[in-house]
Amino acid sequence: MEGWPPGDILPNGEHPRRCFLWPDAEDNRIADRFDAAFNAIVAGDMIAAELAIRSVAVSYHVAHRWSICAGPNSATLTWDFGPDDVPEVPRSERANRRFSVALTREVEARDGHRCRYCGLRLLSSEARLKLHKLFPVATAHRRRINTERNQGVSLLFACLDHVEPWSVGGRSDADNLVTCCGRCNYGLGDYSLRRSGFVDPRRYSPVVDDWDGGRRILAVKT
Ligand SMILES: [Zn+2]
Repeated sequence: MEGWPPGDILPNGEHPRRCFLWPDAEDNRIADRFDAAFNAIVAGDMIAAELAIRSVAVSYHVAHRWSICAGPNSATLTWDFGPDDVPEVPRSERANRRFSVALTREVEARDGHRCRYCGLRLLSSEARLKLHKLFPVATAHRRRINTERNQGVSLLFACLDHVEPWSVGGRSDADNLVTCCGRCNYGLGDYSLRRSGFVDPRRYSPVVDDWDGGRRILAVKT
């Protein structure tokens, strides 16, 4: 296992953490709005779907909590628990960092389309791409200007995180990858769980229920 054993005490006196911030009511409301949008798409009500997506496009709440999880730049959280003893592996000797659509689908489904660190409900990668095809402006999330970017999509963006960092030889396979929200992924960056004060998320079973990450829209014809 990577990271800190759950019962340990960190150098700052706290217990090792599962995530930087647990989802709060507003984070969950944002996931609910996407749930409503997916239902509207399946029902053929594209106007209701777009309104739901636009309703979470600008969120001071998301921006503020994002800044708390800014890794070493966080003004609020103690973050750096010391250097790792594990040497970096030269780039030329590292495993392939990319992963296939099939592997992404497998890992996201195994993890119940939730962040394995904080448990936030996320958008399935394939559903997000479909959503972007349907509503390219409302779902834009790569723009540089905050007000032109859908912060709800950024928050619920599913990434695959290498539990053992790729930079020290972690492999891009299902055993070493977990589904991860944008906020946890951003906070952890390329740093190890140990350095970030984290427990290995694989110690805890994924939560799998009827949340499908929006995959119900994949069968909808565009
Ligand atoms: Zn998370």
